[in-house]
Amino acid sequence: MTRTTLRNDLDGYEVWFVTGSQNLYGEETLKQVAEQSQTVVEGLNGLPVKVVWKPVLKDSDSIRRMALEINGRDDVIGVIAWMHTFSPAKMWISGLDALQKPLLHLHTQANVELPWNDIDFDFMNLNQAAHGDREFGYIQTRLGISRKTVVGHVSNPAVRQQIEDWERAAAGWTAARTLKLARFGDNMRFVAVTEGDKTEAELRFGVQVNTWGVNELVEAVEKASDADIDALVQEYVDTYDVVSELLPGGARHQSLRDGAAIELGLRSFLEEGGFGAFTTSFEDLGALKQLPGLAVQRLMAEGYGFGAEGDWKTAILVRVANVMGAGLPGGASLMEDYTYDLVPGAERILGAHMLEVSPSLTSKKPRLEIHALGIGGKDDPVRLVFTADPGPALVVAMSDMRDRFRLTANVVENVDAPDLPKLPVGRAVWKPAPDFATSAACWLAAGAAHHTVMTTAVGIEVFRDFAEIAKTELVVIDEDTTVRGFQSELRWNQAYYRLAQGL
Ligand code: MN
Repeated sequence: MTRTTLRNDLDGYEVWFVTGSQNLYGEETLKQVAEQSQTVVEGLNGLPVKVVWKPVLKDSDSIRRMALEINGRDDVIGVIAWMHTFSPAKMWISGLDALQKPLLHLHTQANVELPWNDIDFDFMNLNQAAHGDREFGYIQTRLGISRKTVVGHVSNPAVRQQIEDWERAAAGWTAARTLKLARFGDNMRFVAVTEGDKTEAELRFGVQVNTWGVNELVEAVEKASDADIDALVQEYVDTYDVVSELLPGGARHQSLRDGAAIELGLRSFLEEGGFGAFTTSFEDLGALKQLPGLAVQRLMAEGYGFGAEGDWKTAILVRVANVMGAGLPGGASLMEDYTYDLVPGAERILGAHMLEVSPSLTSKKPRLEIHALGIGGKDDPVRLVFTADPGPALVVAMSDMRDRFRLTANVVENVDAPDLPKLPVGRAVWKPAPDFATSAACWLAAGAAHHTVMTTAVGIEVFRDFAEIAKTELVVIDEDTTVRGFQSELRWNQAYYRLAQGL
C-alpha cells in the first residue's frame, strides 16, 4: 500500500548555534570562547532538532554572511545566538536585518558557579555574557527583531524545555512556509468565520491556499482499484474494531469499500499535488458517494491538516500542530465546541464534528461504524468512533480580523466522558481554564472561531513561540485569565497590531 510522503518528523533539520565575540581579546581568549561554546552545544545534545556549533563570529561581514547562509539552507530551521564575551552590537545590524529564520537568544554562561577564590580579570574578560548579551538584547530590540529569549545554564531542564518548545515552533513554521493546501469546494455558505484573506495567509504564513473542483477528487476516487480497496479494507479490519455489518460479507460492506475508495482517491490526489492540508465541503460533494469521514480522520492522524466546511485556516493549524508535536504522545485534530454540560461548578464542553475528528487523540482502538448523517444528502458515511484520552490539551483557533489574523488559545483538560451509546462520532470532553464562564466569555470577546485545532501533544508555550515567529497576534485563555484583563488586552492589541504594521 502506498503511504504518504508527507514529512512529519524533525530528523534532518538543524538549528545553528552562533557565538558572538570580537577580535579585542587575542587568540588565547578566543580559543577558550570557541571551546566553551562547543561545550554549551554539547549540553544541548538530545533535543528533537540537532543543534550544530558554528565558528565564533567576530566582525560584521562574517555575521552577515552567516545570516545569508542560514537563509539559503532549507534544512536550517533556526539560529541560537549567545554572546559569550562582548560582541559590539553594531556588528550585528546587517546580519540581523538580513536573517529570515527564527532566532533564539540564549542568555547563558559556560559555568554554573563562580569560582570566587580564583576569579581574576582574565576570567572576567572571558565570562561576560552578563553584559555582552545585554548589548545584543539592545540591538535586537532597537531593530524590532522577533525572537525568543531563554535565560539560564543549559544543564537546567527548564532551559532545555524552553529551547525544545522553540525548536518545535520553528519546525511548525518551516512546515507552514512550504505548505500547499487543497480546497475541495468553497466555504460553507453564509458562514463568516471560516472566511479569510488567502493572499495574506500566503504572505504571513507562507501557505499556498487554492481550490479544486470536487469532481477532480471524484476522478481520483474512481481510479481506485479493487485490489487496493481490498488491501485497505484488510488494514481497517486489522487496525480497528469494525462492526460486523461493515465486514466482508456483511450487509453494508459496500459502504466500507466506498469509504476505502475515497481514502485512496484523496491520498493519491494529495500526494500527486504535494499537498499537506485540505478542506472539504458537505455542500459540494459532487459525485462522491459519502461525506469523507474515515478517510479524513486517518489522514489527519498521519499528519495532514484538515478543516471542514472549507475552513482552510483551521486546516493550517492542524498541519502545524501535527508537525510541532512530532514524536510526542497525543495528536492534533479539527475540533468544534458542540454542546455544554452546564451543571454549576462542574461545567464541561462536549466537542466533536459531523465525522472528522482525528483518532490520534485516543490511545484506545477506535470502532469503525456506519450511521445515517442528515447533513449532505449522500449515502451513510463510515467513521471512526472514540473518545479522546483524558489529560492536558489545548484548543487554538484562527480568525481573520480584516487587518490581521488573530490566534486565540484556551488551555483545557480533557476528562473522562460518560458512555455515549447514541453518539457515534469521535469526540472529546473537556474542562477549560480558568473556568467555564471565563473561558467562554473571553473566547466570544476575542471573536475566536467555532472550529479549532485540539492538540494533546504540545502545550501553549510552543504555540506562543510559533505566534512570535509568525509575528501574529495570540491571545491566551489560561489559569491566569480574567474577563476584565482579557478585554483590556484585546483593546491594547487592536492598537498595537495596527501600529506595528506601519501607518
Ligand atoms: Mn463545523
